[in-house]
Amino acid sequence: MFSLTVLGSGSRGNCSLVATAECRLLLDAGLSARQIVQRLEAAGVRPESLDGILVTHEHSDHIAGLSIFCRRFNVPIYANPLTAESLRRGSLESYAHWKLFGTGAVYSIKDIEIQSFYVPHDAVDPTAFVLTANEGSIGFLTDLGYAPKLALERIRNVDILVVETNHDERMLQEDSKRPWSVKQRIMSRHGHLSNEAAAKLVASIAGQRLRHVVLGHLSRDCNRPELALGTMEKLGLSGIDLFCADQHKVSPAFAVLRPTLTVGEQINPICSQTNQNQHCQYTFDLGWDAG
Ligand SMILES: [Zn+2]
Ligand SMILES: [Zn+2]
Repeated sequence: MFSLTVLGSGSRGNCSLVATAECRLLLDAGLSARQIVQRLEAAGVRPESLDGILVTHEHSDHIAGLSIFCRRFNVPIYANPLTAESLRRGSLESYAHWKLFGTGAVYSIKDIEIQSFYVPHDAVDPTAFVLTANEGSIGFLTDLGYAPKLALERIRNVDILVVETNHDERMLQEDSKRPWSVKQRIMSRHGHLSNEAAAKLVASIAGQRLRHVVLGHLSRDCNRPELALGTMEKLGLSGIDLFCADQHKVSPAFAVLRPTLTVGEQINPICSQTNQNQHCQYTFDLGWDAG
């Protein structure tokens, strides 16, 4: 089974688990090391059994627990060179277990293939990911000011998408705690996606494959789950399950299920005659195994 569990997501910290029977990966480690251990335990995973941690970028809500967790459990860190360089300037200076990838590269960790791609955000070399296993794909798209064409192309065929719904535009504008410069940064093309922008993005890629959309990275002060979910629901995306991730709670495990085709969905019938009877064989070209 290929599954996603969000261990926690919000402006105070982000960490998700992706697992097959063979491979277990974390995406970001933005909770405290102790919280990551506890939440992995709740998900039934021993920290020392992890095969790697993929890091999207160096902001603290994505790496807060990385150093302590990795030094304790010696888990490889996968990062692009600029992100790794900025992390090494801190407490990971002497850490030896790095795996570097160039943004845009495709590589595999056991039975999971990883595609990284650039997203516009105010970090040294921010990246997003699509992870693919036998059953299908899971996309991670958080911390971006807008979605460039390439990012949309990369996530177009995922089965499960984690997407940032950072803020409600009105709540952000009316927020009295944040100075105008910070608001501008959040709303800029290198900031964060609003509920509205994320909903439009999901609508633009919704098709045959997308089954689950997990809303994440909500601002504590400038958003609420019902607003993020409500904005998505307004677009009437039928056939897609929506779930809003929580800063403090582990999500259910969302599984990518290999589709089972019914007769009505079979395509490209190639008919061949045997003796007097017609027998039909079917070929499938849906981008996944029909079994
Ligand atoms: Zn973030
Ligand atoms: Zn960030």
